[in-house]
Amino acid sequence: MIQFNKALKIVEKEFDRIKNGIEKVDLLNSLNRIIDEDIYADTDQPLFTNSSMDGFAVKYVKGNNRWKIIGEIKAGGYKNINVRPGESVRIMTGSKLPPGADTVIPIENMIEDNNFVNCLNNILLRKGLNVRQQGEDIREGNLLIRKNTILNSNNIAIAASCGKKTIKVYSKLKIGVLATGDELVDININPKGDKLRASNLYSLLSAIQEMNMIPVSFGIVKDKKQEIIKRIQEALNSGIDILLTTGGVSAGKYDYLIDVFKELGVKIIFSKVNIKPGKPVVFGIYNKNRKRVLVFGLPGNPVSCYVNFILFVKNAIMNRLSLNNNHNTTAILNQTLTKRDNKRHFLRGIIQNKKGINFVSHIGSQSSANIDGLNSANCLIVFNEKIMRLKQGNKVECIMI
Ligand code: AMP
Ligand code: MG
Repeated sequence: MIQFNKALKIVEKEFDRIKNGIEKVDLLNSLNRIIDEDIYADTDQPLFTNSSMDGFAVKYVKGNNRWKIIGEIKAGGYKNINVRPGESVRIMTGSKLPPGADTVIPIENMIEDNNFVNCLNNILLRKGLNVRQQGEDIREGNLLIRKNTILNSNNIAIAASCGKKTIKVYSKLKIGVLATGDELVDININPKGDKLRASNLYSLLSAIQEMNMIPVSFGIVKDKKQEIIKRIQEALNSGIDILLTTGGVSAGKYDYLIDVFKELGVKIIFSKVNIKPGKPVVFGIYNKNRKRVLVFGLPGNPVSCYVNFILFVKNAIMNRLSLNNNHNTTAILNQTLTKRDNKRHFLRGIIQNKKGINFVSHIGSQSSANIDGLNSANCLIVFNEKIMRLKQGNKVECIMI
């Protein structure tokens, strides 16, 4: 049996070895994707000095507060009107400033009289007021978006302003999911007698989607060795990067997964980790025709399945993408916790932030079949191997889920 830290290191190393596919996507399809290029400003922004208000563009002269109106400029309708002292041009927000003008006085501070405008008495004028200088926001050549950023809508706005119609991004990993068990029925079927709905299939497929990867369902297969072999072979050769199976990895008579993996040429790296929930978790590597597939045999119990997915698959993917920043946190324990074995426990807990400090309580039942508890939890409290007691008020490590 392997220790958790060692198992995680091995898994992370193998994730690092997955080759990043790269593709070009339309800017509008790049949301939440990881960019594989640096984006630099292709122009100054603003590209030209312009007015930030609807008002009058003037040449500032101290003491002057009455100007002759000599023309009008609207946004996108520039006119090359020379503005001299005592003259003004009616100007709209975003319009390019005409030569000579250096200051804009907002319309609400002006009173028009015939061809003249006067500034209200109580308005303080200053040279350069309400003028946005060329390049004051961004200089041509500035680095705007760094490679490896996950693109949000603000990044997309910047990329759009630089005229990037297509963006180079990393390809999404394709992750296959197969549920195993004679007792399983699909969720549209009313389970009768000793059957139950294969909820793991759905939790894993949606967790994959949540990471913005591509989920591929291989459905449910019965505990029949030949059928499992057929289905896993199909999955391994379908072009996926990672295969997740659920169930069939414990010591039961019909737990065939490890044998099947071996028969199909999957090199088993570990098959038991010193953790709770989910001691039987299998990790292996399939290598054929230069295509590598990382294989995870997750336990069938819904909580063990999900927690192991978080610990190994999600953790490793997040690390690989350097996205781990807000995944792990610490919190003050609301109650004392004890355990009797030397496994590393991951207890479902609820973190609440009170006045900037995180407090965490564990949810009542920690049974690994208790799916409702998982629903209400928002973190896993880490309870290390050698520690048997965590006291109320201790600071503990938590993994957000
Ligand atoms: P196993 O790991 O195959 O021994 O399965 C352990 C238990 O997990 C089974 O008895 C089922 O109750 C449950 N289980 C297995 N697969 C699933 C699944 N896909 N969805 C929900 N529960 C499952
Ligand atoms: Mg089973």
